[in-house]
Amino acid sequence: MTALLHRPALAPNLDLHAWSIGAPRLLAGLQHAPRLDLPAHLATHGPLPGSDLERVLAYLDSASVAGRGGAGFPLATKIRALAPGRREVIVNGTESEPASRKDRVLMRRTPHLMLDGALALSHAIGSRNVTVAVHDEATAQSVRAAATERPDGKHVRVKIVPGGFVSGEARAVVRTLHGSAALPPGRRTPPTVDGVLVANVESMAQLAVLLRYGPHRFAETGTPDEPGTTLLTVGGAVGRPGVVEIPLGTPLGIVLSAAQSADPQAVVVGGYHGSWIAPIGQIRLSRAGLASAGGTLGAGVLVVLGHNTCSLGELARVTGWLAGESARQCGPCRFGLPALAADVTALAAGHVAGLSSAFAHARAVDGRGACAHPDGAARFVMSGLHLLHDENDLHLHGGCGRPVLGQLPIGLVP
Ligand code: SF4
Repeated sequence: MTALLHRPALAPNLDLHAWSIGAPRLLAGLQHAPRLDLPAHLATHGPLPGSDLERVLAYLDSASVAGRGGAGFPLATKIRALAPGRREVIVNGTESEPASRKDRVLMRRTPHLMLDGALALSHAIGSRNVTVAVHDEATAQSVRAAATERPDGKHVRVKIVPGGFVSGEARAVVRTLHGSAALPPGRRTPPTVDGVLVANVESMAQLAVLLRYGPHRFAETGTPDEPGTTLLTVGGAVGRPGVVEIPLGTPLGIVLSAAQSADPQAVVVGGYHGSWIAPIGQIRLSRAGLASAGGTLGAGVLVVLGHNTCSLGELARVTGWLAGESARQCGPCRFGLPALAADVTALAAGHVAGLSSAFAHARAVDGRGACAHPDGAARFVMSGLHLLHDENDLHLHGGCGRPVLGQLPIGLVP
């Protein structure tokens, strides 16, 4: 596969490059302008064909479009699960993964594509309005400006909700918009049972492309089982961080090379509920390809750890942050995750008991919270400890001698 790079200029308020490997779809047009207003959007993508529910579902089924927010749930299944009666579409643009910027790149630089998909979906399921939930003013301004340009923009509401890893979870966003605290509810019930469809920003942009292309053309790139492209936010020890659009199934080595990653030590994929994988160039960046390597596409995050940082220290730092992000409503978050963070910190400091204790605490939290945060955090830690077993040995025998450079970002990135 040839890496064909499109590198548009930096956009105002967003110091990230957006580029593609192969022909861009979601990022099309950004090689010519930092932001696509409605005329530029229509010149790039053309008008959106009218669509009813039958066509939306048939196209989604045919193209096997999975959600791009983290869970990878098929969008068509979510639509079919909607309870009858009053329907609501919420686009979750909170993007609370610290290493992820792809949704904000879409909303700030090519907002009409996401709005096309969300409004088409809203129309198809019989919802009156679309609510776009974001956590920062710059993104809100961009989406509001786009809505005012469109004849159907009166059906778009933009709401700023609290930022935070757990408060960006779909059910927490629904609760916030409905006037409650920005926390997941105390039970694992999907919003669809109340007629609420929470969709990711990239998922809506993908739907807009699919409705224009049709399933046949949509499948001209990607893999037979996972057609199309996906967005990745690439960061860490790379010379060219940014948001990159790739055909699904692109080998990891091509992305690492295009991002100017020299001598990677490990790669975190999917985000902080994702996994650590070895930097093996042949690994295919698709849900199936990553699963066979012990990884996950998740939220489309790809962070490279260089050999110049202490990877175990990086893991301890993120684990501590994940423990602090919980709402502490449930036992696994009140006790389990802080204990797990202490274990990894102890291991990084060379205490052998940290390893067995970490495995025990990870098992203890699994499946016991009211949301997926403890499970996801425990999986992330376990995959890191498995991949870094040589590092663990080094730390048990005096340490690796490298500083913790913070190549894995933590906190809310504007
Ligand atoms: S498991 Fe943790 S993050 Fe999830 S609802 Fe309970 S306390 Fe909150």
